[in-house]
Amino acid sequence: MNDIPLLDLKAQYHSIKEELNQAAIGVMESGRYVLGPEVAALEREVASLSDAKHGIGVANGTDALLLALDAMGIGPGDEVITSPFTFFATAEVISQRGATPVFVDIDPDTYNLDIHQLEEKVTARTKAVIPVHLFGQPADMDPVNAIAGQYGLWVLEDAAQAIGARYNGAPVGSHGHAASYSFFPTKNLGGYGDGGMIVTSDDELAEKIRILRVHGSNPKYYHSMVGYNSRLDELQAALLRVKLKYLSRWNEDRRERAMLYDRLLEGLPVVRPVAVGNRIHIYHLYIVQVEDREGMAAHLRERGIATGVYYPVPLHLQNVYRGLGYDEGDLPVAEAASKRTLALPLYPEMEEEMVMRVADAVKEFFS
Ligand SMILES: *Cc1c(COP(=O)(O)O)cnc(C)c1O
Repeated sequence: MNDIPLLDLKAQYHSIKEELNQAAIGVMESGRYVLGPEVAALEREVASLSDAKHGIGVANGTDALLLALDAMGIGPGDEVITSPFTFFATAEVISQRGATPVFVDIDPDTYNLDIHQLEEKVTARTKAVIPVHLFGQPADMDPVNAIAGQYGLWVLEDAAQAIGARYNGAPVGSHGHAASYSFFPTKNLGGYGDGGMIVTSDDELAEKIRILRVHGSNPKYYHSMVGYNSRLDELQAALLRVKLKYLSRWNEDRRERAMLYDRLLEGLPVVRPVAVGNRIHIYHLYIVQVEDREGMAAHLRERGIATGVYYPVPLHLQNVYRGLGYDEGDLPVAEAASKRTLALPLYPEMEEEMVMRVADAVKEFFS
């Protein structure tokens, strides 16, 4: 029996190999390699998928967050509220801007910002909030927007894990002032290298970000601000445009496999993902919670089944943030999740039979 990986990027490549190869050759033949027509087309397509006016391609998903915060004017002395249960980049960019990340605990069902604890974290210094659509499930955006509106805060959606997900019928990327995507190879829309994009319907933000990504210059060699070298290349854009055509089918395939897991794991002492009624979860990761996480991971590993831990240390307890003054016990839901969550294999090319094998191995662990 073959091993079952957490995800299989080579299988995805082989499923559309000819199209991808042709797209890559087309770019190499074109003589345009950075910020050319493929990037412009991808920007239009991803903006449209997000019900947003503008798409701005950048070097990676971290830069997408960073440039958006910069364009929003976030800097030293400011506070930005976000989740402690996310990839480090979400908070890192706040610190890179010289601002202070303020962590609010998460909702135990969705792993996203607990909107009931959000308002009490707002101070006179708060300038923005970054809800993260973690694991592919949208955060509860209406209450986030209501509180942000009341206090005049920017809302930046971290949609790195959720391209194509929907909240109240509208796509992620259309709910905040801006949103960021990552095209890192493992994301639902992944390239063959790094890439990222900001989407926004705010003309002024879009204009600023376009200038920031090319060293703050407009026109070239005339610098109105200190910016970044953060450009998306044509090769990534062309390959991503090929993949984008398949994204909704792949997300649907992920959802089907997730639902199969849900059925097969029913009744076992594992907490399954909660699909909230007003959201389309696209299962970037299929996350369960188990008491004996290490034991189950080892049991699966012995049977050739890979698992992953997202994320072992919540951000408020990271060494680098010791100076922020958080203690263990401050954000108990995030802390409990970081000790119990385990990702099971899930990707669009995964055969149903493989899902069943994983579920059987989980069942066996408890018997
Ligand atoms: C992947 C990821 C990022 C960063 O994207 P990169 O392209 O790797 O820089 C930011 N936030 C979240 C939630 C992510 O999963």
